[in-house]
Amino acid sequence: MSDKKILIQKYNVPGPRYTSYPTVPFWKNNELTQNEWVESINKNKTYFNSNEISLYIHLPFCESLCTFCGCHKRITKNHAVEKPYIDAVINEWKTYLSVLDFTPNIKELHFGGGTPTFFDPRELKRLLVALFNSENIDPQLHELSFEAHPNNTTEEHLQTLYDFGFRRLSLGIQDYSPTVQQAIHRIQPFKNVQKVHDLAKKIGYTSISHDLVFGLPKQHLDDIEATIEKTLQLMPDRISLYSYAHVPWIKGNGQRGYDENDLPKDDEKRILYEQSKELLEKAGYLEVGMDHFALSHDDLAKAMNSKTLHRNFMGYTTQLTPMMIGLGMSSISDSWFGFAQNEKSVEDYIQRVSENKLPVFRGHLLTDEDVIIRRHILDLMCHFETKIEDNSIITPLFPAIIDRLKEMIFDKLVNIEGNRVRITEKGIPFVRNCCMAFDQDLHRNELKENLFSKTI
Ligand code: SF4
Repeated sequence: MSDKKILIQKYNVPGPRYTSYPTVPFWKNNELTQNEWVESINKNKTYFNSNEISLYIHLPFCESLCTFCGCHKRITKNHAVEKPYIDAVINEWKTYLSVLDFTPNIKELHFGGGTPTFFDPRELKRLLVALFNSENIDPQLHELSFEAHPNNTTEEHLQTLYDFGFRRLSLGIQDYSPTVQQAIHRIQPFKNVQKVHDLAKKIGYTSISHDLVFGLPKQHLDDIEATIEKTLQLMPDRISLYSYAHVPWIKGNGQRGYDENDLPKDDEKRILYEQSKELLEKAGYLEVGMDHFALSHDDLAKAMNSKTLHRNFMGYTTQLTPMMIGLGMSSISDSWFGFAQNEKSVEDYIQRVSENKLPVFRGHLLTDEDVIIRRHILDLMCHFETKIEDNSIITPLFPAIIDRLKEMIFDKLVNIEGNRVRITEKGIPFVRNCCMAFDQDLHRNELKENLFSKTI
């Protein structure tokens, strides 16, 4: 058995993806009050001395179910849902404006989903005008992006959002193989992607990302190679190559549409990533973090080189976003000192917002220790190294962390130099395992059930 295969068998265990720390199953404050949450936002404003925020807007509707999907979505073909939902998001924003003790400056905005392009462009524009209180914005001062479904993104979507100030979009692709597309119930030929990609370029979008997934049912090496080859015909500025997270016990019937035997096995799955990476690097892309690639002119590649790369609930971003407010059903907000999640059903969300309340249903206020561990996990995920400061409140925890890393050190996946922990080139696929050694919640609590996908 090859060295790599042995390592994958040894370390491919269930573990968090670390889009937050503490991770959601360990949030302590299931009934975070509105006052506690607002206080946490105001604390952020004082601590960072800034009124700049990132807005994430969750637009949850999709016309048909892709069976691999792990997002919070509502499947419907009824477009009458658009207006009341946009009204609710506008109301939620107005409630924020009424309870905060400062006026937020929206530096970044991202439309995610669901399918943002399910919505009529005029509804999206109505929402934007309400958020910015303006007919358009200066793209030099605000960074706006959206997720586009290649099957339903129209020229009107692209032009309306561009005219408002959007310059960035990501196209959900997954894999071009008809067999894989059938297995995941998402039929989307290359010509659809090419049409939207070319149109977006022509209109003037400056950063186009293609989102691919490896480890999908019925996906083999030749499928992913053909997908990369087609992707390279269009040379997007960024490529996300996400690992398919198989968690049918959480996601229910959606992920039961195929047999577990249809999934590539652990080491086969890793080979799909490694081969894709080789092809992308040969074509000039730089690997950014665990699962992103970017051409050298793109801000994500620049952020990696200048060590300003950051990670939040949306994945890797170009800079630290100390205050992120999520609007819409199921959205998660992050004040650096706290997390808050909105109601997870459309009905509950709309109901709470109609009462002029922030629709938060659970959250977590970070302890001083959480904030420090969070910083270390972020450094590992973004820069593959971290340093324990002398006399930090977590210094006494360091021997136990090193002890948990001893197998990884033995396998040359991690190096310790003084109080610096560094992930080696060989260790990069196992970065989540290294973070798990720092994760105090994992070691202090026992989860009654498995909630995480596997780390590789
Ligand atoms: S993958 Fe996207 S389009 Fe498909 S069900 Fe999930 S959110 Fe909807």
